Amino acid sequence: MSFYEENEALIGEATKKAIIVVKEYIKNYGEDKAIKEIHRVIDKTQKKIEIDKKTSCHLGCSLCCHDEITLSKTEANYLKPLLKKTKRNKKILNRQNSRGFKNLTWAEKQCSLLKNGRCSIYNNRPIVCRLHNSSDEPQECEINMGKGHQQVYVLELVALEMALYFLDREKHQLHKILKS
Ligand code: SF4
Repeated sequence: MSFYEENEALIGEATKKAIIVVKEYIKNYGEDKAIKEIHRVIDKTQKKIEIDKKTSCHLGCSLCCHDEITLSKTEANYLKPLLKKTKRNKKILNRQNSRGFKNLTWAEKQCSLLKNGRCSIYNNRPIVCRLHNSSDEPQECEINMGKGHQQVYVLELVALEMALYFLDREKHQLHKILKS
């Protein structure tokens, strides 16, 4: 059972609270700055609870950057101007958009924003990437490539992402944004 299935009730309650918080951010700052604020809160909270000591994730590791990246409409709108100026691997991107993610191998799913194995938009990376915290040992990450990882979840932060999806009622895929 996934974390989301196991904790459905708890996530539901936390999301209700997060919806109020996100609405307040949007009211006070506008949509773009609200996303910036959510990015900041995620980083600050994860730093405070020293999540880096509980995970194997670090800038430069890209083993998890082989998946379909989903964003809320508000976050997609925030990132679009930045992404327009960002170089992407067109060969990878074309393949992802023409064949569809489900039909790709693990290697072919590599994010087109990786440059020499590093995220080229690391400071602006989407919420879903920020929240991906593998608790596997580094060698297990290598062995489990493409098979999923044990993850550390922070309920209040997961709830912020869920709140955005709930409020937007629209999800976007990074590879489609980068192709448009
Ligand atoms: S945006 Fe950055 S962190 Fe997210 S999948 Fe792409 S390269 Fe990895």
